[in-house]
Amino acid sequence: MPEKTRAYDAIIIGAGAAGLMCAAVAGRRGKRILLLDHAEKAGKKILISGGGRCNFTNKFTSADNFLSANPHFCKSALARFSAADFLNMVEAHGIGWHERNHGQLFCKHSARDILDMLMGECRAGDVNMMMNTSVERIAKKQAFVLTTNRGNFSAAQLIIASGGLSIPKMGATPFALKVAEQFALDIIPPRPGLVPLTFTGTEKEALKSLAGISLDVVVRCAKTSFREALLFTHRGLSGPAILQISSYWQPGELIHIDLLPNTDIAAQITDWQQQRPQANLSTALATLFPKRLAQHLCTALIDDAKLESMQAKQIEKTAAALHHWSLKPNGSEGYRTAEVTVGGVHTDELSSSDMQAKKQPGLYFIGEAVDVTGHLGGFNFQWAWSSGHACGMAL
Ligand SMILES: Cc1cc2nc3c(=O)[nH]c(=O)nc-3n(C[C@H](O)[C@H](O)[C@H](O)COP(=O)(O)OP(=O)(O)OC[C@H]3O[C@@H](n4cnc5c(N)ncnc54)[C@H](O)[C@@H]3O)c2cc1C
Repeated sequence: MPEKTRAYDAIIIGAGAAGLMCAAVAGRRGKRILLLDHAEKAGKKILISGGGRCNFTNKFTSADNFLSANPHFCKSALARFSAADFLNMVEAHGIGWHERNHGQLFCKHSARDILDMLMGECRAGDVNMMMNTSVERIAKKQAFVLTTNRGNFSAAQLIIASGGLSIPKMGATPFALKVAEQFALDIIPPRPGLVPLTFTGTEKEALKSLAGISLDVVVRCAKTSFREALLFTHRGLSGPAILQISSYWQPGELIHIDLLPNTDIAAQITDWQQQRPQANLSTALATLFPKRLAQHLCTALIDDAKLESMQAKQIEKTAAALHHWSLKPNGSEGYRTAEVTVGGVHTDELSSSDMQAKKQPGLYFIGEAVDVTGHLGGFNFQWAWSSGHACGMAL
């Protein structure tokens, strides 16, 4: 049947993680689904995720792993299609997986296994998938009528699964925000999340000299903290600890780093004073840090001194500096490298049970387009699966 005349129950815009899950679920339930995407291929972010192995969920997923203006919003969808449910699906398709630290689950072989599984489910649900399709206009009459470069399509239900703004090179667009604006839905202003932080001037030059060094730290911004690895880079700071805190950091704010989360450094210096009084602090610190970092800290952050000469006050000052290193990023690497977009369609506008817009029946938003942003570790995909599933069950 020509595309133009085929009738659909629902049109989904965006064949990424959330759109594919939603299409598969609704299609399997017998709904006639059209899944559109402007890219030439579906699920591009799935393929590059987790270094090509897709960290597809996290076994400890809970609402605490998400940022949102309403931290309770994600609970219902996460409970109705949980990390365990997605893992069951993965196992039912015979996909090998393994667990890394903090409950992160990855494909054993390739992220393609996850994409193939979702594409297979869409085929089983007889989903009509149209790639290279750009939506030029959405009109709401009795149904939603879409004008695209490949003809006009209409359906009573329209699902926006076009993701966030991160990595424009991979096809990210502000489409979801524009649709929200068209239908007068509030948004939480978007900003890059899970992104390296950058510095300027002397701080940038100093951090550059440490590029390549990685260490376990606790990083804090306002009331939130993460214990993970930090990586010094040519542009500033990266590594899981920084990516995590970047989602909470706002321009102008300081971040605070505990460089020795396991060590009472004041007590350690006192021990060193007994064991090696003639040694310098920088030499002693090189037993705890890479030498380059120890030397940098003793020029930029603390005063180097012979251990035996250090008085209680200086020890205290040194300990405070190493446990609370405060830095002010000038920005982040932005959407060019951000793994996610923080913000999106305001959850107050949507029903938490099916993701439908309260003011505009028949219009739904799922996945990263919604103001629900996961921490690093498989949570963003779990939100895409859970919100896509909740919506797919309601169509
Ligand atoms: C490098 C990288 C690695 C990541 N690794 C992980 C990981 O291991 N684990 C994890 O949980 N999360 C990871 N993420 C985050 C995760 O990929 C996203 O949160 C998730 O893909 C969001 O799903 P989505 O379906 O909402 O959006 P997307 O997957 O981004 O899909 C949106 C789709 O909409 C299409 N689209 C956009 N605009 C339009 C338009 N105007 N018209 C038509 N179609 C449009 C796009 O082409 C795309 O196919 C990673 C992200 C990146 C960038």
